[in-house]
Amino acid sequence: MKRREFLTAATLTAGAAIVSGCQRAEEGKSVNVNKGKKVKLKLATSWPAHFPIMGTGVDSFAARCGELSGGSLEIKVYPKNILVPALQVFDATSAAQIDMFHSGVYYWKGKNSAFSIFGGMPLGFTSEEMITWIKYGGGYELWRELYAKFNLYPIIGGTTGPQMGGWFKKEIKSLEDLKGLKMRIPGLGGEVMQRLGVNPVLLPAGEIFTALDRGTIDATEWVGPYLDKMMGFDKAANYYYTGWHEPGSILEITLNKQRWEKLSKEHQAIITAASDEMTSNMLYEFRIRNAEALRDLPKNVEIKTFPPEFFDAAKKALAEVIATESANSADFKRVYESYEKFNRINAPWDAISTKNFLEIRG
Ligand code: CA
Repeated sequence: MKRREFLTAATLTAGAAIVSGCQRAEEGKSVNVNKGKKVKLKLATSWPAHFPIMGTGVDSFAARCGELSGGSLEIKVYPKNILVPALQVFDATSAAQIDMFHSGVYYWKGKNSAFSIFGGMPLGFTSEEMITWIKYGGGYELWRELYAKFNLYPIIGGTTGPQMGGWFKKEIKSLEDLKGLKMRIPGLGGEVMQRLGVNPVLLPAGEIFTALDRGTIDATEWVGPYLDKMMGFDKAANYYYTGWHEPGSILEITLNKQRWEKLSKEHQAIITAASDEMTSNMLYEFRIRNAEALRDLPKNVEIKTFPPEFFDAAKKALAEVIATESANSADFKRVYESYEKFNRINAPWDAISTKNFLEIRG
């Protein structure tokens, strides 16, 4: 572009910005970035209506999209089983039956084993590390490439912070005590436990308490003190073990890819910003609610940590699980390599910063 043309274009752009600014000032508080173009999106979740933290988090996300867009972006939240069953939100969004969903990434391992890595690894990254890897370590590029094959566009939509290891009816003093136990534990954590002699079982949320209470299962993991107490697990088991298998599980706001691409840049930016807000708020909310719930646990509950030999065996079993998954799936191998690449950069810094400081602080 010639200099004069450039200057003219620059002047026109600046002028337009001033005019636009004046109009906004005149319109006062009711600035509407997409005036006259109201967009309505249907979002289905895997949670019951207004389920604490996850469900209320996505309610707030939808409300924030409305506020930030001056009402031009309306996201209607459908709790599980209203429009689609809890675990069919992925397929329904992929097929454009709904526009988007809010769920946990670990549910979709059956679609592609690599997806389990985006959901979080046993003995792996914390929430902060997971988000850093996804946003700045190449995670998003791989996640979006692999989800595109399902017509989907994923955005981080919350994280749980560290989860607890679960409730056991009997104390675990050695690896021997794990042999033959029936435990509700899904995902890669369940695969590790299986290699240690545990029988992992899958149960719908509504059936876990009764199964634990009656002794149909010997143990269960869920989330942390706040949500676990709501499930009543402290009335069915006395030993509450510290966590290792879900140090920072990631939830997702995922849109149908064509639907996402048709949205205006403003609406895309609003959804991205509101997802970021939900993610950080969810992490903080889990921290405070878990801290309060831990303080209020009844006296019968004993907090325990698995014996050191458990962690040696779990690390070995996890390495075997990763080797098997990598051999079976080129996608898993590639995603895990990206995860490990970030780990090699992050671990030395973490060792002399966060980890070192927490040890000093005590
Ligand atoms: Ca869990």
